[in-house]
Amino acid sequence: MNITSYQSQILEKKYLNKDTVCLKLQKPENYSFLPGQFLQIFFIDIKRSYSIFSKPSDETIDLCIKCLEGGKASEIIKNITVEEKITISDPMGHFIINEDDIERTYVATGSGIAPIVSMLRTSLEDYRHKSKIYLLFGIRYEEDIFYIKELEKLSNTYKNFSFDFTLSRPSENWKGNSGRVSAHLPSKITDKKNNQFYLCGSPDMVKDIRKLLIDSDIDMKNIKFEIF
Ligand SMILES: Cc1cc2nc3c(=O)[nH]c(=O)nc-3n(C[C@H](O)[C@H](O)[C@H](O)COP(=O)(O)OP(=O)(O)OC[C@H]3O[C@@H](n4cnc5c(N)ncnc54)[C@H](O)[C@@H]3O)c2cc1C
Repeated sequence: MNITSYQSQILEKKYLNKDTVCLKLQKPENYSFLPGQFLQIFFIDIKRSYSIFSKPSDETIDLCIKCLEGGKASEIIKNITVEEKITISDPMGHFIINEDDIERTYVATGSGIAPIVSMLRTSLEDYRHKSKIYLLFGIRYEEDIFYIKELEKLSNTYKNFSFDFTLSRPSENWKGNSGRVSAHLPSKITDKKNNQFYLCGSPDMVKDIRKLLIDSDIDMKNIKFEIF
């Protein structure tokens, strides 16, 4: 299969926590994508998929990449510098939202927040959805917390949006939510029928939450997921 590729310059590189990097890429002319889609970066001998963190109407393509210790692409990303050009693919994937104004529940862990931020921001800021939107965001350690200020700003601006985050490995001094996302989700589901679920993160989290939702009589067709 022929994949169209584009050269794109890195405009900004910022660490969101000790190992999660936000890359802002120049958007190629006429490059359009749907909220939730991913692209591939072609490195010299490998390619890797990354969800698009920005929303389609933003001027840049932003990525939120967790650099794994010893990971091939991760090591390249750690050393990549602003102004370098990288090769990216067309957007891909079916983990997307449409313009329907319906209740949505999102569950993300770690860099799994990337496609969900694109969906949330498009839904609230561009589609102006008024239905209830809830996000449960799981992070491992206190020092890894990122993007919470931006989520607080969204929830202050849009009253139909609320979120919680939980730490799976909190310190003794942590006063906020702790434990896995699976422990917090059930109490947050008010409507089981007219609610679309979007899960993104590790294989274990997606497997656990899917099972939990299916066991709670949620129709499989209302559960969409992306595994990193
Ligand atoms: C649709 C999709 C969207 C995605 N979106 C994102 C995103 O938005 N953000 C994001 O951060 N990631 C995303 N990913 C994951 C991403 O594509 C990469 O898989 C991830 O970044 C790891 O790539 P890597 O080359 O750094 O690690 P790899 O080299 O592929 O290694 C993966 C892991 O295995 C370990 N490993 C490698 N070789 C060995 C070995 N010989 N022995 C033991 N351990 C080893 C590495 O240390 C690392 O932890 C997405 C994946 C998919 C499929």
